[in-house]
Amino acid sequence: MANRDLNALTPEMKKRVERWLKKCAEHGIDILITEGRRSQARQKFLYSFGRYGINRTKAKVTWTMKSNHLTGNAIDFGFLDNGKFHYNGPWDTCYDIAEKVGLKSLYRKYKTDRPHLEFDEEWNDDTPEWARDSMKYLDKKKIMSNKRPNDPITRAEIAVVAHRIIKHLTK
Ligand SMILES: [Zn+2]
Repeated sequence: MANRDLNALTPEMKKRVERWLKKCAEHGIDILITEGRRSQARQKFLYSFGRYGINRTKAKVTWTMKSNHLTGNAIDFGFLDNGKFHYNGPWDTCYDIAEKVGLKSLYRKYKTDRPHLEFDEEWNDDTPEWARDSMKYLDKKKIMSNKRPNDPITRAEIAVVAHRIIKHLTK
């Protein structure tokens, strides 16, 4: 049985999912979470689909034994329309909202597993929304870490950052 209880997720994941649900509702999107935290036994069962045992001939439903569902860091979802469940909702809008609250879609990256959203490790809750893209970019370029986004910067730190920018531009 799939566990849909948000309380079984990690507290930080639960916070993000609740924020996401609220924003989706504000967009008039009615979401149904079909699964959250998953037991090792259930992951094993799902992994058997398309691979072995009585489920060998069925279609594959998962690609890994190390799913983020196991640690309570992933959810799967679909849509409700007048109480009727379906998968024909505004996926992109939901992914856009998800990325604003620290959840990532694997479908956006790998074009697989549409209903799945998981905890984005790189996302920093304390970063103001308007600075998020820039901080992510600088972190990726190793110019400035995206940790401690609201701390003041010292002369020594800005010197290092400036030096890295110059090196980056002249290489
Ligand atoms: Zn999933």
